[in-house]
Amino acid sequence: MKYPVNEIFETVQGEGHFTGYPVIFIRLQGCDVGCAWCDTKQTWIVDPDMQVQQDIVNKPCNDKPHWAYFTANEFIKTIQKNKFIAKHIVISGGEPCLYDLIPLTSELEESGYFCQIETSGTSVVKATASTWVTVSPKIEMKGKLPVLQSALIRANEIKHVVAMEKHVEELDILIRDVDITNKVMCLQPISQQKRATELAIKVCIERNWKLSVQMHKYIFID
Ligand code: SF4
Repeated sequence: MKYPVNEIFETVQGEGHFTGYPVIFIRLQGCDVGCAWCDTKQTWIVDPDMQVQQDIVNKPCNDKPHWAYFTANEFIKTIQKNKFIAKHIVISGGEPCLYDLIPLTSELEESGYFCQIETSGTSVVKATASTWVTVSPKIEMKGKLPVLQSALIRANEIKHVVAMEKHVEELDILIRDVDITNKVMCLQPISQQKRATELAIKVCIERNWKLSVQMHKYIFID
């Protein structure tokens, strides 16, 4: 199994439950969800003309839509070659669940890494049972893909971006039939907006949920 990769780099997790933890970030190429505010639009298309050598994607992509194929074993060799220290790997996108992530997460776990997937929930999650799945549901986006109940049920963490009350209501409808008792529930204000932040704080306190504030945007890192 080969995965199209846009960028690989070591950083600290900027969002959600693991905020602040050192992580190795693997961003896969390809997404058909079509969020208007997407800040990684360079990942949407796996353009054959943009295929490059592996060493080109072995660093932050600087918004370039390039990509290179990696097998699970090639990821591990690259991580070792880079002398990355983190043992937590975040597989993001794009939409990483366009791909069968079982071979990748299995091999990474066998090599001692903890895997986390960040997904929109619009594709079936295929990963090992111990992979931490963060679903950030993207509701009624341009691609018109429904958020799958199976993804919400599989989620260890549901992290929802909010700008106004209607986004909290949308989430409530989405999780109506999902048992969230053992899930980490996060609200994330959109684009550091004051109104959205106040709303997210209010709802998090009311429901004993977690606030996610995109720390990386405050400390100016990728
Ligand atoms: S799912 Fe993620 S990568 Fe895809 S369009 Fe939405 S924000 Fe962008």
